[in-house]
Amino acid sequence: MRRFSCVFGAALLFSGVAYAGDDHDHGPPIGKDVVNLPIFDAHIHYKKEAWGPFPPDEVMRLMDENNVAMGLVSSTPDEGTIKLFEHAPNRIVPELRPYHGAWGSSNWMDAPDMEAYLEQRLADHPHEGIGEFHVRQMETANRPLLEKVAAMAKARDIPIHIHSDDQPVRLLYEIEPSLTIIWAHAGMISPPQMVMEMFETYSTLYADTSYREGDILRSGGIDPEWLKVIRKFPDRLMVGTDTWVNGQWDRYGDLVKFNRVWLSYLPRKTAEMIAYKNAEKLFKRKVSLEQIGKR
Ligand SMILES: [Zn+2]
Repeated sequence: MRRFSCVFGAALLFSGVAYAGDDHDHGPPIGKDVVNLPIFDAHIHYKKEAWGPFPPDEVMRLMDENNVAMGLVSSTPDEGTIKLFEHAPNRIVPELRPYHGAWGSSNWMDAPDMEAYLEQRLADHPHEGIGEFHVRQMETANRPLLEKVAAMAKARDIPIHIHSDDQPVRLLYEIEPSLTIIWAHAGMISPPQMVMEMFETYSTLYADTSYREGDILRSGGIDPEWLKVIRKFPDRLMVGTDTWVNGQWDRYGDLVKFNRVWLSYLPRKTAEMIAYKNAEKLFKRKVSLEQIGKR
């Protein structure tokens, strides 16, 4: 995250540098008006460690303060997600993270009871996605379990949210081509050229850009390779903060502001899609500033 902090100070100026290139059909950059867009935060975690220092009221206060109207939440354990959802059902889209007890990001696919656990949680709670889960290496991918997970998502018509490089995403589409997948962090380290290729290959692939802000925003504007992806697929991207540790909650406001900075360089229509309209379509929810201050 070193790069993130370097760009941060200068970037906050909302300098409104022109959206360079062939943007004739897209209009001028939204600039400072970006502050008036509601945000759908597509990558929130509410882990056990956060429950004490950041009780649900405090989480809502942080969202309100930053005009984050709604968020996609997954937690370790899933009880955190349900806690937030029950506190503010009109602001929280719950998704089921498999991690619980001794089963976490590196070994969840080895848990003998995982299929039953997921089925039970999906039966008991109104989850609108499965994830975010990790598949770190293809060698560790448990294909039979991923087939079950794909079938659960398909049966409920809800997306899968996966943190991996491109290979496990391809595997999921091989298992079930009609899945909707949210690619966490747009692959985290996958270059924009790979994100482009994946969007071209899979028409139901979306990505959240959490942890990629520092790649997307360069001093003076948006990285040219990322800009190509944004222009070609403005309908597939969503922003996120990834509150995976409490430090991310501590600087929640700065993370949201940083996202608004890169969005400020985009034409209004594009910025609106990435800020919240893509999420509205994906989750069939209305996202609006009128939700701020309500639950
Ligand atoms: Zn995450």
